[in-house]
Amino acid sequence: TIGTIADQFLFNAFVVGGFVRDLLLRKANIDLDIVVEGDGIAFARKLGQHLGGRVREHERFGTATIILPQDLKIDIATARLEYYEYPAALPTVELSSIKLDLYRRDFTINAMAIQLNPEHFGRLVDFFNSQNDLKQMAIKVLHNLSFVDDPTRIFRAVRFEKRMDFTIARHTERLIRNAVKMNLFGKADDPRFFTELKLLLNEENASPALERLAELGLFPFLWPDLKPHLSIDRRFRHCLVQTQRSIAWFKLLYLTDRYEPWIIYLLTIMSRSSMTVLANFCDRFQLPQRNRTMLLSEKQLADNASHHLSARSELKNSDIFVAFRELHIEGLLYLMAVARKTEVKKAVSAYVTTLRHQAPLLNGDDLKQLGYRPGPPFKKMLEALLLARLDGLTSTRDDEIAFLND
Ligand code: ATP
Repeated sequence: TIGTIADQFLFNAFVVGGFVRDLLLRKANIDLDIVVEGDGIAFARKLGQHLGGRVREHERFGTATIILPQDLKIDIATARLEYYEYPAALPTVELSSIKLDLYRRDFTINAMAIQLNPEHFGRLVDFFNSQNDLKQMAIKVLHNLSFVDDPTRIFRAVRFEKRMDFTIARHTERLIRNAVKMNLFGKADDPRFFTELKLLLNEENASPALERLAELGLFPFLWPDLKPHLSIDRRFRHCLVQTQRSIAWFKLLYLTDRYEPWIIYLLTIMSRSSMTVLANFCDRFQLPQRNRTMLLSEKQLADNASHHLSARSELKNSDIFVAFRELHIEGLLYLMAVARKTEVKKAVSAYVTTLRHQAPLLNGDDLKQLGYRPGPPFKKMLEALLLARLDGLTSTRDDEIAFLND
């Protein structure tokens, strides 16, 4: 379809980037990135109409996204145009080219295209020996100024290296180290730094990627306040492993709760830092407000809960429930990872697997039937019933009625 519509417009159309890389690696990838040599927006409108999808246009960049049912989406870009100004009266000439588009990408393995026009359907476009790099499992930039143009690519290099078990090629690694040495990204004010860090921390196995970032000298940029962490010490490495374990533990429970691993990693990394240091990090990387609020509140709640529970000699279920009830999965898994006391780890486990799902046997309607008047005290009564049940003081409805009467 895409190719046929492109033909109607007399454009060349290509699928590019990660999709092609993963296709050659025989890995699934449902994100389609299309590049057309022509007006991408007009093309997207037509294709959107044809596929019955919603089209979101970004006029300024000549790009559009078609949103299809079931979260499928197709990104469409215009092969970036190069303008050649001729002197005197001659008009400006527009040259669009897939080659130029591919040359501006991050790594050779992401710089291949497959043509979609029916006549050349399936033709692989590989100007930069990308297939060979894919075979060699090498991450290579396309030119020496790549990291100068866009330092966020360093995070992408590490992410792909660890995800696919590839190696950042020698020369490319040298360019990264140079960029770090030149302090190319003293400022973190490009929001893409945080976007890329988040993607890296959400990968299946983030801790080797973090170690690699440390080894490439990126920690002082990421966490300038964390002096002891400038090189990864044993305790820090241990925390990362624990984080990975706590996430793996949670996954094995096959629960439906959604959670975001990057939050757990960031909380762990800054576990020994003050709230101010975490707030500084959020400011520096311009985190969206909702991410910032989540990080700060989970840290505060989790650290308080841990402090509170560690101070107790004997932990009742109700203590655990009250200490943890405002935490999200992210805060709980963070605690699981960094808590030093086994009791606290056990408490998290009990809370996540059972305690948080408990409810009293009586509900509001029962209380009404028992002659209690609905109102704010209802909530308190139900809570008291819940805590009693958690501690085993009640186990039947009659126990609960008796408990209320006491
Ligand atoms: P993933 O499998 O993680 O989605 P991807 O390669 O599809 O990987 P995207 O972030 O979706 O990654 O980017 C799509 C494509 O856009 C990449 O394959 C790459 O060609 C290009 N790209 C993305 N970010 C950059 C960048 N910072 N600089 C240059 N090209 C980039």
